[in-house]
Amino acid sequence: MIRSIFPLLAVLLGLPALLFTSCSEDDDELCIEITWYEDADGDGLGNADVTLSACEQPDGYVADDSDPNDTGGTSTPVSAFDDFNSAAVTVSFDGAEITLESNGLPNHTSPYWEETSPLYIEPVVAEALTPGRIGGDRSYTLTVPTAPELAASSTATGLGPIGIAVSGAPIFNDTEGPNRPLEEQTAETFDYAGAHNGPSGYHYHVEASDVPENTMLSHDDEKLIGIMSDGFLIYGRKCNSTGDHPTNLDVSGGHTSSTQHSEGEAFYHYHIINEYYLGTLIVLFGVDLQGTPNGIF
Ligand SMILES: [Zn+2]
Ligand SMILES: [Zn+2]
Repeated sequence: MIRSIFPLLAVLLGLPALLFTSCSEDDDELCIEITWYEDADGDGLGNADVTLSACEQPDGYVADDSDPNDTGGTSTPVSAFDDFNSAAVTVSFDGAEITLESNGLPNHTSPYWEETSPLYIEPVVAEALTPGRIGGDRSYTLTVPTAPELAASSTATGLGPIGIAVSGAPIFNDTEGPNRPLEEQTAETFDYAGAHNGPSGYHYHVEASDVPENTMLSHDDEKLIGIMSDGFLIYGRKCNSTGDHPTNLDVSGGHTSSTQHSEGEAFYHYHIINEYYLGTLIVLFGVDLQGTPNGIF
């Protein structure tokens, strides 16, 4: 405070310019030291508690002092991306960003494949099918920070893709239209993978069933489900850090702990919340995002 008022006082008192040249006496240019705030996470917002006074902006410091959480996010463990279906999903790492590009074609069986597909099976749990079949020329692209951060406030999800599952098909929320929550009739159309087809393609709403046909998707376990649009990973109902259903989840099913991918490092991730919805269904993600959502195009 004193430091910032001092030049002002000098002006008011008509003191000579000497006072302004505190950085260096032989500096010809007028130099006014101002306060800079550390920006450890590089988001352009500075930490009000870590300051430097200098005439020129020091590296890693900004003039802004409004970052409530300058610690930065913890990087998403890269090995998690090995769990994605590489036939459908291309993952590229570019410094501070990760981009996933998927054709949306899952690597498991479903009655939603064309009958000519080797992955076609007769319905196992679905009682009715929605129109359309898996296929078509689709792409889902999501770019997220390598170290996503929790946002100051949470964000509701909308219709359409809100995440990309490890199989490559998108994750949808707990609605099937504007203000239209999943209902019994919709639930009948889910295959054992917890997905059905819609105008925007094949997508998951609920956890996969525990049936012999399900040889790879998560059911009440700690497997990776996918990545949400805010960049946080989502795992099954159990957490590898304890081998059980976590008891310290926030309202979005998130917590900070290690997983099978992080070699003991704790990082924020979501879990499928272990609560039934519509009888025996478990919704994948019917809550708000705790990070900053990115578009899935
Ligand atoms: Zn749907
Ligand atoms: Zn966990």
